[in-house]
Amino acid sequence: MAMKKQGGGDKRRRVVLVPYPFQGHITPMLQLGSILQSRGFSVTVSHPQYNSPPPSAHPELEFHSLYDGLAGYDMSFHNLLAAIYAMNENCRASLDEYLVQLMEKEEEEEKPVIIYDNIMFFVDAVATHLKIPTIVLRPFSAIYLHSLLSVLQQSDAIFPFQDDSILEPLPDLHPLRFKDLPFPTINNDVLEPVVEFSVRSNDIRSSVACIWNSLEELEHSALSKLQQRYKVPFFPIGPFHKRASDSSTSLLEEDTSCLEWLDRQAPGSVLYISIGSLVNISEKDLVETAWGLANSEQPFLWVVRPGSVNGCDQLPEDFERVIGDRGRIVKWAPQRSVLSHRAVGGFMSHCGWNSTLESISEGVPMICTPVISDQPVNARYISQVWKVGLELEKAERGVVETTIRKLMVGSEGRELRKRVVDLKLKLESCMQKGGSSYQALDELVEFISSLP
Ligand code: UDP
Repeated sequence: MAMKKQGGGDKRRRVVLVPYPFQGHITPMLQLGSILQSRGFSVTVSHPQYNSPPPSAHPELEFHSLYDGLAGYDMSFHNLLAAIYAMNENCRASLDEYLVQLMEKEEEEEKPVIIYDNIMFFVDAVATHLKIPTIVLRPFSAIYLHSLLSVLQQSDAIFPFQDDSILEPLPDLHPLRFKDLPFPTINNDVLEPVVEFSVRSNDIRSSVACIWNSLEELEHSALSKLQQRYKVPFFPIGPFHKRASDSSTSLLEEDTSCLEWLDRQAPGSVLYISIGSLVNISEKDLVETAWGLANSEQPFLWVVRPGSVNGCDQLPEDFERVIGDRGRIVKWAPQRSVLSHRAVGGFMSHCGWNSTLESISEGVPMICTPVISDQPVNARYISQVWKVGLELEKAERGVVETTIRKLMVGSEGRELRKRVVDLKLKLESCMQKGGSSYQALDELVEFISSLP
């Protein structure tokens, strides 16, 4: 238990969470906060000013803002690496000051425990200086980190490579191909800074454990290889969203009216489409997707996030007329509620890790449209290892149309649906008493409580 007797009263041990301020990272960190709070810890979310999470949605958590010096900074995707380094530099003083005050104020024998997103690597130096124990949260998949580290290890054998080898298998990384390399690009030129960042952000330094939004049953092989490498206890206690409170973790306003539209659709008939919070697609891909959707004649709910198209994000002129009430387009959806809605029968997804877990947890098969980073690795596992999704071979209207039909009304789709439901049930049993994720959470609570 997390309670500690002090002076006759029960005192909760404080956990300070430091998220990386982007949707796909804030979400699992807030969910972890909610899980730990329900297990008896006091939880503070100490976050950069940029993309501050909404405190009102999480009354069970305390929030503290770190000065990040990012006002006016270019936070667009192409400048992300520079922004990450700036954030890691600028937040340091503010976190140090906050922790010193916290320890003075709380007059506790026990120090707080910090859990930080691995991209917020500055935390290590602050915590080491103040002698506070830290744990790393890995919000990405273990398969991604394992592939990334393997690629870095054999980079001389892999780079540079020719464009015509992108469909060749990557050595020792079945089923990945050069095309699925876990870098934001397959362009050989930009490799150096990306490699440097990958090494830095995946070095856990003085941290005493790693928490994973994953499960042994899903990623056993990658988790055990990583465990041998990092040599600290691992706690795969996922999927977080199935344990945490239902509160929204969205940074953008959710258009909940689409749930009423879903209520009017037949069970399992709707394809949901989203590319998550960060990546963009080209104007051509937008148009091809639109016509592929229209020609498939299947009902769909499509998230077209403002700013997510490189170029003009206008849908083709007569598109809305052609689709009528068969399709619904929103700027941002309450995704977890959408995926758990009985009308949803498929998810065309960029395969971010949260989306992947959310889809599997609801037994929804996928069409994979990965763009960068961990997405191609996750996509490959979805289609080739877990076999719960189809890869979209090409963003061309004809291919989009046939792939949608295959998933939504074809026999292959039926098989995928059956397999994803089996996987969902398996994961559910891991979360129940006696299951691996259930046990890992008990052990984590014990572990944090016993830290000096
Ligand atoms: N999401 C949402 N509404 C949307 C699209 C996405 O709430 O319209 C949520 C989704 O449920 C997931 C997160 O945003 O929890 C995206 O995280 P993910 O790891 O899938 O992708 P990222 O945005 O990091 O690329």
